[in-house]
Amino acid sequence: MIAVFITSIYACSLNVDSASKNLTNYRLELTFDDVNYVLNGSMSVNYYNKTETPLSSIYFNLYPSAFRDASGQEVIGLSNYDKCYYNGISYGGIDITKVYNNSSLNLNFEICGTDENILIVYLQKPVEPETYTNFNMDFSVIIPNINHRFGYGENTVNLGNFFPIACVFENGEWAEMEYYSYGDPFYSEVANFEIELTYPKDFIVATTGKEIANAVAGLNKISVFKAKAVRDFAIVLSEKFQVISTKVNNTEVFYYFYNDEHASESLETSKLAIETYSELFGNYPYDEVKVIQSNFVHGGMEYPSLVLISDEISNYETYTYVIVHELAHQWWYGVVGNNQTKYAWLDEGLTEFSCALFYEQNPQYDLTYEKLVQKANSSFQVFKAIYGSVLGEIDTSINRSLNEFSTEPEYYHLTYVRGFLLMSSVNDLIGSKKITQCLKEYYIKYAFKIATPENLIGIFEKVTMKELEEFFNSWLDGKIIEFD
Ligand SMILES: [Zn+2]
Repeated sequence: MIAVFITSIYACSLNVDSASKNLTNYRLELTFDDVNYVLNGSMSVNYYNKTETPLSSIYFNLYPSAFRDASGQEVIGLSNYDKCYYNGISYGGIDITKVYNNSSLNLNFEICGTDENILIVYLQKPVEPETYTNFNMDFSVIIPNINHRFGYGENTVNLGNFFPIACVFENGEWAEMEYYSYGDPFYSEVANFEIELTYPKDFIVATTGKEIANAVAGLNKISVFKAKAVRDFAIVLSEKFQVISTKVNNTEVFYYFYNDEHASESLETSKLAIETYSELFGNYPYDEVKVIQSNFVHGGMEYPSLVLISDEISNYETYTYVIVHELAHQWWYGVVGNNQTKYAWLDEGLTEFSCALFYEQNPQYDLTYEKLVQKANSSFQVFKAIYGSVLGEIDTSINRSLNEFSTEPEYYHLTYVRGFLLMSSVNDLIGSKKITQCLKEYYIKYAFKIATPENLIGIFEKVTMKELEEFFNSWLDGKIIEFD
């Protein structure tokens, strides 16, 4: 039984090259202007229609649009406003100047959505299922002065969700995403990327994927980066970065930092996280992963093969925890994708649970699984007591869209804390061996794809041969009976 299980996992070891077939290909040529904080460039899209429907237009999310003046989307909560906009209010945005085919013939396009958050490119002729269509667009991106995942601060320029990225087409429609001041309101399919970036040569650049070529041209450097079968592509630039690295399994782990007296420990934690999660859930498929200290108002942020860790975290234990958390997202969000607006708990709950497993496996950090469950339980009780006294009754349902939470603490306590407690109660029910077996299966089955809560529950039922749907749903709908 065990031998059969090991063989099946081994046979299913993830491979990026085979996953990179029949995906959309993006090629971006960008120039970073560090005086005006503008990225000018063009993008050629070789869009693969993986749906069963011919598509006459392709929709793109324009996340930078949320940062523009007069945007109706909130990018930051009021309590973080001054910390984020430390130099006063600053706007960003994206300007699409032209969309054209490979014969330089202009294609019609439209900026729409609920708040200029969507670009629609109208094709000359529909792209049939399982075929490609090519087109190009020119644009400029204005980078705001804000300590955010998209913005520049005192130390780093963070380019997260900065370019037009194809919306997911599902159930006969395009999933149009809006920005929210909390959560990670992003959703995309895995694709292949090649980015040619021109930037002042004093900058050190960290990106998703890896650098395949570079050259110096006068005061600039031109680097080409490539990433196969990744869900998104992010870039971080800094003139202050120091870089250290180590290797684990087939992955080079890099740590970019400018202010960390425990840098080698931070690198070691990063390495241990990749090692532990690979053992627990399945192999990490990418050649490189970068952990990057940066200006960022929240604790950290995940991108494929790249994570941001905020330089504002003063407690080193917390800093370590954020590294462990963000790297777990490489499995839950990165390789196995989900709609992060609709089902934020799915990646956050699994990620928090994975962190607890990490600490259980690595006792040198002196933070056990039990301690983390206790902490989550008491944190949720405090939240209930405080918010309950104001609001009367608390909605304890987990499975909600970002816009269905009324406050950032409510979002956090239901998706992270309650999502973790849900997984820990499943753990109590089926045992830790079974739960890692379920997560291994979930990882292999939905690698490079998109999963839903139903998919997760389905895997758990299949592996355990137990009817668990009602159990999951009682937590997800907030109907679990608790004895406080
Ligand atoms: Zn997270």
